[in-house]
Amino acid sequence: MSALKDLYDIIKEVKNLAEQYQNQEIAEKVIQIQEKFFDIREEVEEVKDENRELKETINQMSYDKELEKDLVLDEQGFYIRKSEKEQGKVVLYCAACWNNNHKLMPLMGGVKTTRPQCCSCHTVYKLKDDRNIGRIASDFW
Ligand SMILES: [Zn+2]
Repeated sequence: MSALKDLYDIIKEVKNLAEQYQNQEIAEKVIQIQEKFFDIREEVEEVKDENRELKETINQMSYDKELEKDLVLDEQGFYIRKSEKEQGKVVLYCAACWNNNHKLMPLMGGVKTTRPQCCSCHTVYKLKDDRNIGRIASDFW
């Protein structure tokens, strides 16, 4: 932050002038200014950190919002992505993980078993029957 650096340089110059002219009153004021300068510099750093964290949160929220538009909750309890379905991909996602933590976790086993399981929270989903697997894999999707 160059304005802060410039200000610090000016404070040092005034400090040197106070020493040069042996003005005790100004020297003491300069020390007070310098202390306040350090306080302000610390506050600026805190505000910058907070701002960076808020930007990250906003980015994450917009990403989640976009992702959410792509999700469809299947009647059997898991999510699928519209965009993947359009590309002919069949990936089942854990509804618990998305609803609780906004993490999109694929189900292990996916369409290959009637009991796909979340690779993160280990929730087991029960597909209705074997015919559903066929439907998911071909006609239905
Ligand atoms: Zn899960």
